[in-house]
Amino acid sequence: MEQHLQHPVFKALADIAHKHHIEAYIIGGYVRDIFLERPSKDIDIVVLGNGIEFAELAGKHLKSKVAVFKNFGTAMLKYQDLEIEFVGARKESYRSDSRKPIVENGTIEDDQLRRDFTINALAISLNKENYGQLIDPFNGITDLNNKLIRTPLDPELTFSDDPLRMMRGIRFASQLNFSIEEQALTAIKKQKDRINIVSKERITDELNKIILSKVPSVGFKYLFDTGLLHLIFPQMANLYGVDIINGKGHKDNFYHTLQVLDNICETTEDLWLRWAAILHDIAKPATKRFEEGHGWTFHGHEDKGARMVPKIFAHLKLPLNEKMKFVQKMVQLHLRPIVLAQEVVTDSAVRRLLFDAGEDIESLMLLCNADVTTKNEYKVKKYRNNFELVKQKLKDVEERDKIRNWQPPISGNDIMEIFGLSAGKEVGLIKNAIREAILEGEITNTYDNALEFMLEKAKEFGLQPIKR
Ligand code: ATP
Repeated sequence: MEQHLQHPVFKALADIAHKHHIEAYIIGGYVRDIFLERPSKDIDIVVLGNGIEFAELAGKHLKSKVAVFKNFGTAMLKYQDLEIEFVGARKESYRSDSRKPIVENGTIEDDQLRRDFTINALAISLNKENYGQLIDPFNGITDLNNKLIRTPLDPELTFSDDPLRMMRGIRFASQLNFSIEEQALTAIKKQKDRINIVSKERITDELNKIILSKVPSVGFKYLFDTGLLHLIFPQMANLYGVDIINGKGHKDNFYHTLQVLDNICETTEDLWLRWAAILHDIAKPATKRFEEGHGWTFHGHEDKGARMVPKIFAHLKLPLNEKMKFVQKMVQLHLRPIVLAQEVVTDSAVRRLLFDAGEDIESLMLLCNADVTTKNEYKVKKYRNNFELVKQKLKDVEERDKIRNWQPPISGNDIMEIFGLSAGKEVGLIKNAIREAILEGEITNTYDNALEFMLEKAKEFGLQPIKR
């Protein structure tokens, strides 16, 4: 803590506070993160009095421009790489229909009491008489040491007042690998329906932070166990459970999905590839059948899953853009490398996979690797070996045939000119025939080879070139 408090910005704020007889404190996440040794650039300062006026004094002193948010009674300035936000100490009370509290001026204790968790309610004094003193009325440090998420007030009241805190609590548990205290957990279970007054955007914001944490299954297990997941993302909760017919069960797709998600988090920070892991089996409940003599099947779950992606993205207010298309593509193709790895790996199968996956082939391979969750060591070894083989083949085939960013060697325009055709079905047929021949390895991916093949093929369609 000492070394953080040496920063000139805190000395400057302390001088201003002293000169103007205002009490000021560092509060919240920044203080928590000092103790967690997670360096942070966002600093919250709370003052007893007017936060905006104090910010303006600080802005003058530090020669920084101040952004004022009058409606919120807050102001912000940037200093070097730090973002410092100022607010007056508040006392809050809530009504049942809104997350927006009624706000009055308060003491530092009032302000700490309105914070969501004890670990977020820590404050450090910037006042001359006790500069650097930690103010920890709710034993936040003990909770940090015990890795515990706990609320300063009665948790039921805390979560009922602002139900977003339920998501935040689970998010912190996931980010920090903390447990949620028993009473707080019970309170979330009781208050879960209050989540309905929180906007989808805010819920998804927290969900994405859970997904971006190191081991997201921590957060998702809490979401599931409290019943929140069923409310905010029912399709995922629906993956849970095992049916048994004639003594045969299938794996629990919820826990399998969590394992795949945790696995992929070891190899990528990409939010969207992590989303692909969450959604890869999303249509398993909808496609599940028990076939006599065969057992459980999930035929077509990759197609149906890909079709479910836009609806889920829209519902969660995730972007309906190329990120969504990427997730869709991953869901659609997630079985392909596995199928490939189970069989003799032919060049043409590899070429087709490259053609369909294009630029996203590496991501797809990461997803497939993560999808191997069997406990059977022998099977794991076999899959991983075969994946290596597929990867090597992908490399060889790509070097030779350049399929990854495939452009037809003969364009539709070329075809029209050569045969004197106008745009229509025949052009498409010829293009398809050329593509198929290349993917099957009958010809190489070059203009000359494709031209020769096309002229031969055109005879079958009764076409004569008018120019070559
Ligand atoms: P992170 O930066 O990882 O999101 P943080 O704790 O800094 O963590 P912010 O959302 O910036 O999160 O909030 C700053 C502080 O404001 C928190 O530490 C907490 O004290 C308080 N706070 C934020 N949101 C709430 C809330 N919904 N209810 C009560 N206090 C809150």
